[in-house]
Parts: sequence; structure tokens; C-alpha cells
Amino acid sequence: MTDAIDVRALHKRYGRRTALHALDLQVRPGSVFGLIGPNGAGKTTTLRTLLDVIRPSSGTVRVLGEDPRRGGPDLRRRIGYVPGELHLEGRASGHRLLSFYAEVSGMTGSKDAVLRTARELGDRLGVDLDRPVRTLSKGNKQKVGLIQAFMHRPELLILDEPTSGLDPLVQREFLAMVREVREAGQTVLLSSHVLSEIQQAADEVAVLAAGRIVAEGDVASLRLGSIRRVRVRVDDADAAEVSAALTALAGVEGVEAPGRGLLTATIEGAIDPFVKAISRFEVHELTVEEPDLEESVLRLYGDNREGDDREGGR
Ligand code: ATP
Repeated sequence: MTDAIDVRALHKRYGRRTALHALDLQVRPGSVFGLIGPNGAGKTTTLRTLLDVIRPSSGTVRVLGEDPRRGGPDLRRRIGYVPGELHLEGRASGHRLLSFYAEVSGMTGSKDAVLRTARELGDRLGVDLDRPVRTLSKGNKQKVGLIQAFMHRPELLILDEPTSGLDPLVQREFLAMVREVREAGQTVLLSSHVLSEIQQAADEVAVLAAGRIVAEGDVASLRLGSIRRVRVRVDDADAAEVSAALTALAGVEGVEAPGRGLLTATIEGAIDPFVKAISRFEVHELTVEEPDLEESVLRLYGDNREGDDREGGR
């Protein structure tokens, strides 16, 4: 079966800076593929290339079997896209705007059906589509952006940081929408710098750092979730002893004692030895969270954040 997205040796330069280095990316039809990476990794550049918003310096790109440079409106109609930076400033209401999109893009399926879906999605996400879009908050504008991408049930959804600005409940609804389109056989490529979101949504993941894919596979195999930051508060009098106990544990690093019985550390791998180690003390507070993606990527895959083109004149 033809891949929904097939990118080979994609190179993108902005002047002297190389944003993408020989990127290869294949997305199977009917799957949810997550592209994650710290800010500036090249996610937006990759996605824009798929939509022919920008053009590759070299390499080949196929989207739904077509070259985006030649696919034109027919190809665009088969894709739903949420850009990373959405600007909705007009006087028109959300509903009018969506109606306009439905018309200009000559969507497959009846316009009524598309707009009915838009209304349903508006209700689910909790956005008032009768208000002028320019009066909507950032999060509500983002919801309108999501609706325009989903409403015509495109074969492929390309979503650039789709949940930015959305509160946690709406993020959950969004993840449910992604699961539903996947069940309907549609393909989703989404980018994020939030690991937990990708872990919940994606079948497969590629980790992008400094314009290169540094890891690829199913979410579990990437181990990105195996690094956690912990914060524990014990009696002040116990802090030194707890600190020593934690420092002695394999997989625990960066133990710090910022004061008043508070200790912070990073754990890689199993959390059980940590739990056992603190259990003999009185614990007043305990937080376990994932570290930011940049930190995880750097720890697991090393620092290759150089911004300059070190490959010379391609
Ligand atoms: P973010 O999450 O911050 O949006 P990203 O992973 O989407 O990051 P890109 O926006 O693709 O990253 O940027 C990749 C690199 O290319 C960065 O170093 C960025 O500064 C550079 N870049 C992006 N667009 C341009 C441009 N139009 N001109 C010059 N450099 C650019």
C-alpha cells in the first residue's frame, strides 16, 4: 500500500542555515504519526513542505501518492491542515468563515453535511461559532482552526501543534477526535513538543532534533517517558539523609535540596527503588512529572543542536 506520506532525503535550507538534514519519513495510511521535538527542531518546516507552503532545497516528497508541488487544489482538498500559527482576525463569525472555507475548497461531500459536522465539532470543543472570530480568545481561535481541518473528513490531517492554547479538557476532546478519525481510516500526522500528548495519540513517533530524526518507532520503544522529574518534601531534619539515599540509587540524578525539606531529582527507568527509598521517611508532598521534551531528547539521544550547516554546500 502506498504510504500516506513518503519523504526521502528532504533537505531544507534557509540561507546559510539548514533546517532539515536529509529527512526520511514514512507514514502508513490509517495511522496516527507523531512528530516531536524541541522548539526549532524543524517540525513546522517539515509540515509546511508537505503542503507546498515552502519548497524543499532537495529531496522528494509524496503526499497521498502525489507531489505537493503538482497536486494543486485537488490534493489540498484531500488534506486537513492546522498551521502552527493561526491568524483569524476577520469580522465574520466562525460559522461564516467555515462556510466560506467549505465553498472555496470545493469539498468532497455536500456543503450541508460539512457544516453540520462543523457545528457538532463546535459543540464538542465548546466554541461559539456565531461570534466574530476576531473577538475569540486564542484557544477558541485554535478550536475554529481544528474544526476547519476536521469538518470535511479529509483522508489526511496534518496538524502543527494542534493543542497549543487549549485547556486540558479540550485537549482530551481533541484526542478523542483523533482516535475517531483514525478508526474511520483517516491518517493523522501531528507535531508537538508535549510528550504526553503524543504518547496518548500516536501509533508511531519520530523524534526530531536540530533538523534530524534522532529516533523513530512505537511510542514505548522510544523510552522518552521513562525519564521523570520528582519533587518530594520530607521533614527538614530528614532532608540530608533522604538526599544521600536518593543519590545512592542507580538511575537517580541531579538530586538537589532547594530548602525546607524539599528535594528534587530526575529518575531514569523504574520508579520503584525511589518509592522504596523514601518510604521509610515521613513524606509530606510528592510530585512525579515528565521532564520537558528537550531534556528527555538530550539525555537519551545526545546534544546535536548545532544550528549552523556543518555539511557544507548542499
Ligand atoms: P517550534 O516548535 O518552535 O515551532 P519547529 O520544530 O517547528 O519549532 P521550525 O519552525 O521548523 O521548528 O524551525 C526550524 C529551524 O529553521 C529553526 O532554526 C528556525 O529558526 C529556522 N527557520 C524556520 N523558518 C525560517 C525562515 N523563514 N527563515 C529562516 N529560518 C527559519
